[in-house]
Amino acid sequence: MVGFSSQFSRRKFLLTAGASAASSVLLKGCLGNPPDTTNAPSETQQTPVANINPADAPETTQIKLGYIPIVEAAAMVIGREKGFFAKYGMTEVDVSKQANWASARDNVVIGSQGGGIDGGQWQMPMPHLISEGIITNGQKVPMFVLAQLITNGNGVAVAQIHQGKGLNLDISNAADYIKGFQSSNGRKFKAAHTFPNVNQDFWIRYWFAAGGIDPDSDIDLLAVPPAETVQGMRNGTMDAFSTGDPWPYRIVADKIGHMAALTAQIWKFHPEEYLAIRADWVEKHPKATKALLKGLMEAQQWCDKPENREELVQICAQRNYFNVPVAVLTPPYQGNYEMGDGQPAINDFKMGPLYWKDDIGNVSYPYKSHDLWFLTETLRWGFHDGKIKDIDQAKQIIDQVNREDLWREAAKEAGFDADIPTSTSRGVEKFFDGKTFDPENPQAYLDSLAIKRI
Ligand code: CA
Repeated sequence: MVGFSSQFSRRKFLLTAGASAASSVLLKGCLGNPPDTTNAPSETQQTPVANINPADAPETTQIKLGYIPIVEAAAMVIGREKGFFAKYGMTEVDVSKQANWASARDNVVIGSQGGGIDGGQWQMPMPHLISEGIITNGQKVPMFVLAQLITNGNGVAVAQIHQGKGLNLDISNAADYIKGFQSSNGRKFKAAHTFPNVNQDFWIRYWFAAGGIDPDSDIDLLAVPPAETVQGMRNGTMDAFSTGDPWPYRIVADKIGHMAALTAQIWKFHPEEYLAIRADWVEKHPKATKALLKGLMEAQQWCDKPENREELVQICAQRNYFNVPVAVLTPPYQGNYEMGDGQPAINDFKMGPLYWKDDIGNVSYPYKSHDLWFLTETLRWGFHDGKIKDIDQAKQIIDQVNREDLWREAAKEAGFDADIPTSTSRGVEKFFDGKTFDPENPQAYLDSLAIKRI
């Protein structure tokens, strides 16, 4: 366990976060610990309030959804705790904390009937990889992507020993320093993510490669549990960490390192994590699937209202959910990021987690064009030994896995017509380094990249 609280400077914290916050931060809460696997019945779960049209009544009131205790999961937690799932008849939604991404994957292969889960929160393109048996020892478990859970809320942290070396958003001026790290330190510059070949791996790879660093040869990049990574950053054996809220706050506040970049700076309003459920569950329970989606959408709308953020933090910070101090969870939900290393702080609500709408589209709607970026990036890095061969195969997989049609139906039935996107594509995507991804021409994006395996 990383002793965040034991290492934390109480005096510093009193100055920056107020006395009540200081007392709570010193209590406990260590994100990344082996979590409670029990999901204690909520005391605050509210009773159903809607009159459900008998024709829309779900086939079941139960589903078991896995989550990882990070901000990506907030709308699922709120959907349960504020009664939005129950409002549409899903009165027994079990949100079940997963020890890590590998556990979530293994539990969805088992399914809830075997003691696992029916679906839940995923980094991308895990649902596609599980459907194809690529990360499940060849066992294909078809899954449906049903909604995006969040945009923004992630970033790249760099260890304190690299202060003042130019390791910020654009690291092109620090490329020699990073590449030369081995000759002066006896080991390569070392970076970590939490699970290979998915979002957090993609974000840090994009950031390195945009600065001229090849993440496969110039550095060591590997999957390490968050607590171990932070300990390594503290003791000088880990240099960078692709991470998500609320870790960035703790890393900067505890002087473990600085935030080189928020993902909102790398690619503003980027696709992040998703709700996906086993296809067999969805096909058996089409009305329950839409009821769940309607509840999730209402929860996402609720989460985006600034006046609800304080209550959101109070609920999600609880021990049976994220188990972190309110003081740690609050700043990102106000869009407040101390970046460290002499960089200006960021204070912009829209640079923090958003759940329903952003400035260029709908956050919840699962654009097929975003699935295509994740699989194009999979091709870029040559992941999975060529099991996904090319763009055409990627599109075929997306057409099987992405069920934006169910999202649309649910949104229409719930009366959210005004927020339903007109296209399955969000259009051309822009990155901080000037690169663009046109979903109509992924090859042009691949061709434009200097560092790639394809
Ligand atoms: Ca994430």
